Amino acid sequence: MSAKNYSFFDAVKKSFYKAAEFTPWDKGLLHQINSCNAVYRMRFPVKRDDGSIDVIKAYRVQHSHHKTPCKGGIRFSLAVNQDEVMALAALMTYKCAIVNVPFGGGKGGIKIDPRKYSPYELEKITRRYTSELVKKNFIGPAVDVPAPDYGTGEREMAWIVDTYSAMHPNDINAAGCVTGKPISQGGIRGRREATGLGVFYGLKEVCSMEDEMQKRGLEPGVYGKRIVVQGLGNVGYHTAKFFQEEGALIVGIAEYEGSISKPDGIDLEALVLHRKQTGSILNFPGATNLENNTAALELDCDILIPAALENVINAENAPRIKAKIIGEAANGPLTPEADEIFIQKGILVVPDMYLNAGGVTVSYFEWLKNLSHVRYGRLEKRFNENMNARILESMETLTEKRVDEKNRGLIKHGADEVDLVYSGLEETMISATREIMEAWKSNDKIPDMRTAAYVVAINKVATTYSELGIFP
Ligand code: GLU
Repeated sequence: MSAKNYSFFDAVKKSFYKAAEFTPWDKGLLHQINSCNAVYRMRFPVKRDDGSIDVIKAYRVQHSHHKTPCKGGIRFSLAVNQDEVMALAALMTYKCAIVNVPFGGGKGGIKIDPRKYSPYELEKITRRYTSELVKKNFIGPAVDVPAPDYGTGEREMAWIVDTYSAMHPNDINAAGCVTGKPISQGGIRGRREATGLGVFYGLKEVCSMEDEMQKRGLEPGVYGKRIVVQGLGNVGYHTAKFFQEEGALIVGIAEYEGSISKPDGIDLEALVLHRKQTGSILNFPGATNLENNTAALELDCDILIPAALENVINAENAPRIKAKIIGEAANGPLTPEADEIFIQKGILVVPDMYLNAGGVTVSYFEWLKNLSHVRYGRLEKRFNENMNARILESMETLTEKRVDEKNRGLIKHGADEVDLVYSGLEETMISATREIMEAWKSNDKIPDMRTAAYVVAINKVATTYSELGIFP
């Protein structure tokens, strides 16, 4: 079947029903779980800097209210359409369920190319979008909490929280209406790199599984693994950075202007600097320019990490992929046809709906911080440091030996906000990886890890529904 026969949301439903077969739930309940509960489609004008008027198309979708608030990013991209936002919102529901983040799925999108608008125009669009959401009660710390996604970041989140707070002057929890904010606006340390770090923790856990590595002729561990990354945005950059820091080699990078390879490893920071100076990743000293911007996906490597947009690996190019593991950092980068091809070839696909859950996991921590009005670690950091120092001194007195300065610092250190965020994220990603692998191994008819992840997600959402008593 050609990928053109169905949409992105259809593809999500296809994967959902493939997994539903391995669950005991009623058909009607399954239908309720995969349906989008609410779709808000809006059109509003924005006056450009040159005086002309553009009509902006935008959406917010609340896929599931089995838990509230709804949660999910807002993307700015020309590819935005209602079907895409619905598919992405559905993935958020399953993602949150897998990593035990107590939210329903949501997603927003504005159909613009942000590079074609000035910061002032973008601010007007973002603030207007927010006030449209407020008008229809589609945003709020208890209702629906957006976050960054493709084409948006801290700056846009700051405009959103400012607009929302101005319209809710008596809401003491207003800062929790959006996550991914700058620290000064109620953001949390570690959120910026969270998705990339989560991808890294998830894949590191997979790489530590000896049987999975052995099946693919790989040594356990991240060290020395050859990685190709598509997309050098926030997610792709941070994923590559954490892999490189752990001794992996970045042997290929793809971006919209082209793709490059370097079998002995690309120095990521030098490449970022090169791109800043020349406007392109191409012509990077020591690297080879490949024939087009997707050619790097087909390089010989151990782990391929698509970290850009959906449907980039499909029936056409999947047969040429040489990676042994594919880590889906983007949402929906593989079509169902590509999935089938990789199952046949024994390529392990580590699925998006949990692998890129680091962003929403740390968003959850940020939202909790906003509702509790206190920074993580503020109360206990000094207490723990004093306690650790006392334990260390007692140990030194008893043993009559002194711990060296570097280790002294490490032992005494009381956790800062960023330490707690990293540790919460690492634990979340390790537990989710193990839970999905266990579900996969518990039934040898489950064909792939994505289906196993859906089984875990469906069981969790369905349990919530049934325990609500709606479906006795
Ligand atoms: N946009 C990110 C995602 O797709 C983060 C969502 C969030 O933090 O709510 O998972």
